[in-house]
Amino acid sequence: MSGVDTALWDLKGKALGVPVVELLGGACRDKMEAYASGGWANADKIGEQLNGYIEKGFKGVKMRVGIMDKTVAESVKRVRAAREAIGDDIKLMTDAHGTFSVPEAKQFCRGVEDCNLYWFEEPISPDNRHGTAEVRASTSIPIAAGESEYTAFDVRDLIEVRALDVVQPDSAIIGGITESMRVAQLAHTYQLELAPHCLGSAFSFMAGVNVAFASPAAVVIEFSLGGNPMMYELVNEKITVENGMLSAPTAPGLGLTPNWDFVHEFKQKI
Ligand SMILES: [Mg+2]
Repeated sequence: MSGVDTALWDLKGKALGVPVVELLGGACRDKMEAYASGGWANADKIGEQLNGYIEKGFKGVKMRVGIMDKTVAESVKRVRAAREAIGDDIKLMTDAHGTFSVPEAKQFCRGVEDCNLYWFEEPISPDNRHGTAEVRASTSIPIAAGESEYTAFDVRDLIEVRALDVVQPDSAIIGGITESMRVAQLAHTYQLELAPHCLGSAFSFMAGVNVAFASPAAVVIEFSLGGNPMMYELVNEKITVENGMLSAPTAPGLGLTPNWDFVHEFKQKI
């Protein structure tokens, strides 16, 4: 459903010669901040790693925490080291990929409460909605989630139990651009921030970018600095971030064409 829906929006945009964002009502802004997503280094190296992203022009960075650190104390130590190294003016996000327990997530939040985190993403299993709400109630750090949800109904449930500050639909999972826009409307109505998750491929990335530009609730968009052939080799176009900013889409549809050599190389016979 997600793939077909996204392809139909792309097709319609290409048929009419306009970017998908125009079909969604038009861009709310000319440019949008992209934040660098990465941050896997240990406490000694995390500052250097994040400052490397900042040198590329990014004004926001996200680092991983949670099970990879073995203990909550280690996650806290890495975040504190990161904040100290990058200074106060850079947005700093953390993502636990759902790997903390509820008490661990609360302990983590208490340990970094004064680090001015822009958000804490998927603190615990996203399936545990009431648990996520419990973590959120225990801290002033904004809680982000949504990349693992299917349909706007799931996101509505998360919002209704007051689990979220930042909503992150992934168009490749949630049900395409149509369903992402329903989530964008929910975010706007509940005065939450929208930050589409869009790292599955170049197509889902541009789907998320078009939705983000069309929604007044969106503030920043994730740009992964990890390796991802589906993002960088699947299409002929280069997706570029300049000085930490993405420009509003102007090319028809999603602005992408498949690199057929890459597609044929990995095609499966069925
Ligand atoms: Mg995430």
